[in-house]
Amino acid sequence: MSNTLYGGIEVGGTKFICGVGSGAGELLLTKEIPTTTPDDTLRKVVDFFREHQEISAIGIGSFGPISLNEQSDNYGQIINSPKQDWSGTNIYQAIAGALQKPTKLATDTDVAAIGEHYHGIGLGINNLVFLTVGTGIGGSIFANGKLFHGGSHPEMGHIRIPMGKDAGNGVCPYHNDCLEGLASGTSLEKRTGKPAASITDEIVWQEEAHYIGLGLVNILMATQPERIIVGGGVLRHPGLIDLIRNEVNNLVNGYLVLPQLESYIVQASSESIGVLGAVKLASL
Ligand SMILES: [Zn+2]
Repeated sequence: MSNTLYGGIEVGGTKFICGVGSGAGELLLTKEIPTTTPDDTLRKVVDFFREHQEISAIGIGSFGPISLNEQSDNYGQIINSPKQDWSGTNIYQAIAGALQKPTKLATDTDVAAIGEHYHGIGLGINNLVFLTVGTGIGGSIFANGKLFHGGSHPEMGHIRIPMGKDAGNGVCPYHNDCLEGLASGTSLEKRTGKPAASITDEIVWQEEAHYIGLGLVNILMATQPERIIVGGGVLRHPGLIDLIRNEVNNLVNGYLVLPQLESYIVQASSESIGVLGAVKLASL
């Protein structure tokens, strides 16, 4: 087995998780750096990797929207981020420019999907969907053994779903009641006045499962994945995934013969799967 080491960075709204590992799924060390201003945060990230010159390449999985068009001048730039300070920041240039190592870029959900495919619950499955439901909602498609990007990365959080009683009461500044507008942790908090972790009202969770189920059925009908992996803070609510499986089953309504839902719609592996995937991305 090769002893080559790689760096990986999972770029999140609250923290950057930096790691050094092999492409075979071992993480030798990780460091969490709080997300503050771009200058401060990126300087600390660069300092961390300067202490690890043994790495031969770096993989970055960033929150978005971010430009992933390699032909474009703004490749690697965060676009229209609700995190004001970060709009216009070019994460790729800041890191690749300072460290002078081969650097690959994808989204945060992309590296999670890569991690799941190579080291996690999507092991060896070539057609996967990964959806994360946290403060926001995002997703990635792994198709025919590769990440699927069109002109840029998918924006599954902003697919439109039928409006229920929460119509017009969403939180997306662009669409109001898109999937992210209605089913993100931010939306749950707006509707109930409580953070998702404190919500105990089963009716709220039933509605949440309905919205996520609608989103997943749209994605499922468009892509026919072999497995759907769901992660993110909101999915930590006990039993939510069972409610979502039920909703998907009801909404598909027999049109497709779905695999057994317990192994078809599954929970993401672990918190470290993103940084593991970023390390793997560097090795690909
Ligand atoms: Zn939206």
